[in-house]
Amino acid sequence: MLLPVFTLKLRHKISPRMVAIGRYDGTHPCLAAATQAGKVFIHNPHTRSQHFSASRVYQSPLESDVSLLNINQAVSCLTAGVLNPALGCDALLVGTQTNLLAYDVYNNSDFFYREVADGANAIVLGTLGDISSPLAIIGGNCALQGFDHEGKDLFWTLLVGSEDFDIRVFKEDEIVAEMTETEIITSLCPVYGSRFGYALANGTVGVYDKTARYWRIKSKNYAMSIHAFDLNSDGVCELITGWSNGKVDARSDRTGEVIFKDNFSSAIAGVVEGDYRMDGHVQLICCSVDGEIRGYLPGSAEMRGNLMDTSVEQELIRELSQKKQNLLLELRNYEENAKAEWSSPLNEADGQWGIIPANTKLHTALSVNLGSETRAAHTELCISTSNDTIIRAVMIFAEGIFLGESHVVHPSIHSLSSSICIPITPPKDVPVDLHLKTFVGYRSSTQFHVFELTRQLPRFSMYALTSPDSASQPLGYVNFTIAERAQRVFVWLNQNFLLPEDTDIQNAPFQVCFTSLRNGSQLYIKVKLSGEITVKTDDIELAGDIIQSVASFFAIEDLQVEADFPVYFEELRKVLVKVDEYHSVHQKLSADMADNSNLIRSLLVRAEDARLMRDMKTMKNRYMELYDLNKDLLNGYKIRCNNHTELLGNLKAVNQAIQRAGHLRVGKPKNQVITACRDAIRSNNINTLFRIMRVGTTSS
Ligand code: CA
Repeated sequence: MLLPVFTLKLRHKISPRMVAIGRYDGTHPCLAAATQAGKVFIHNPHTRSQHFSASRVYQSPLESDVSLLNINQAVSCLTAGVLNPALGCDALLVGTQTNLLAYDVYNNSDFFYREVADGANAIVLGTLGDISSPLAIIGGNCALQGFDHEGKDLFWTLLVGSEDFDIRVFKEDEIVAEMTETEIITSLCPVYGSRFGYALANGTVGVYDKTARYWRIKSKNYAMSIHAFDLNSDGVCELITGWSNGKVDARSDRTGEVIFKDNFSSAIAGVVEGDYRMDGHVQLICCSVDGEIRGYLPGSAEMRGNLMDTSVEQELIRELSQKKQNLLLELRNYEENAKAEWSSPLNEADGQWGIIPANTKLHTALSVNLGSETRAAHTELCISTSNDTIIRAVMIFAEGIFLGESHVVHPSIHSLSSSICIPITPPKDVPVDLHLKTFVGYRSSTQFHVFELTRQLPRFSMYALTSPDSASQPLGYVNFTIAERAQRVFVWLNQNFLLPEDTDIQNAPFQVCFTSLRNGSQLYIKVKLSGEITVKTDDIELAGDIIQSVASFFAIEDLQVEADFPVYFEELRKVLVKVDEYHSVHQKLSADMADNSNLIRSLLVRAEDARLMRDMKTMKNRYMELYDLNKDLLNGYKIRCNNHTELLGNLKAVNQAIQRAGHLRVGKPKNQVITACRDAIRSNNINTLFRIMRVGTTSS
């Protein structure tokens, strides 16, 4: 079994995800972590004596091993690494919502301290594209910014879309791949080759290989930190996850199987690696929010990858024998059933044994239900059996539709019947696999036959085919041409919408009209003989989803699209005006603050002068004025804060708009639109921005 090679109990709390190891003097690895009240502590056990590397378990570190760095502001990200290769030592980087500090721990001085208006929520160190020097790249609220060791900002890109459910792969500032997940992505880490680990806000962790998901598991706890480390010495990294309940586990990158686990008494704050004992062996180092730190060495060859403790093995044996018991029980039931069937075929009393006719079939049908006065419109899954058997319960597992991803329906005993309809309301337009387990038997049954099957919910199942209503025709549209026959377009429609069974379209031109089950808005799809397709909707996101769906169905690599969304664009224009206003308010407030600081300085001097002259009355007056000014400054600061929050909210909306304009196109035209929009924003050219969003290029 794998035991920690050292354990430390630091008397400092550790903020989640704010842990880093660096060789700040170029030699000794030291742990740095953000702690309460805007401080960062640095634990350096090496300089004192040889004590640390000699002791196996090290319970009480000296307070003097820990030094504190005052940031005076909540730390929002932290990392360490080589920023200036010429120096040969690591920099400690600390980000807050307003600044980035690159700190020279060894010399107790700043490498640089920069204001970052967009905030620093995440930070990585590394090289990017053809910029040769390492960069500290910070992720703000809507932009990425890269600084070199002098604090020069060498890279900047508007990051379109954050806190949505997508994982995006960038090549420099160009998106090369996007994968949609079911929740906000909280962390990513490289594992091996093109494999990477990811964690979601709903307790999911997993591994992707390029754009394909390899495996995933979901826990009721949250992954606080993920890290790749080869813990069983087989040459391939495992995905190490530190959980909110204090568990640490290592999972095979291929299967997700747990090969090691350990428990802390509080949530894990961070998982890092380093040669903390300085004996040439890198340890996996796990830190809890309570300041407990454990280091693990990879398992030796003798352990043959067997890292679990014996009690875990016993647990496994217990689990397996339980499984065996269950299987035996099941077998006995089958035997009893067979016997009962032999003795008295087709007797209602057999029901209790769960015998259902061998030819019992289960039918499933998906349809749209336009709702009633008491029930909102929804998609409906109807399951029915082919005879007088009843459905006792249905279990549905599907990603992103139900809270907790699964849904159980079990009608009361009085309303049992051979069919059941389950309302489904997917919140987003993504295709979803519904994994169903249906319990079928008789009213008196104590055992049930379980039918397992999977149905796919089409991507646009929340739109019902309706007759057009010219009064509420949408103003927004997209226009594009594809070289496909009308019949093929109909096949796409049929696969992606829930059309009534008798719907059939053979020839262009044709038009279909749908009504959204979510908000009643209309969607028109018009196909001309020439292959020109017009999609009318006021929902720019829906238009984008339809274009992406068409493109992937027909394997279209590049698609240029003409678009207009008058209502949405008008909103966006207002947002842009507000952004301008907030910017100028920001400048004015900054200038006011500078003026006030000068005033404070002079008031202070005059008050002190008065005190030296023993003119207590003037002194008192000056201090009163100072008090008032201070109050004004504080108020001004609050206004500045609010202004900043508003500004960020509006900038996010602008980013989202660019993202959506890109989403209306496919391949090269998509990247061109995003780049051109970003350039237009940078040069503050609003009219160009709207032209690009409409036409797809800068040239009219
Ligand atoms: Ca391994």
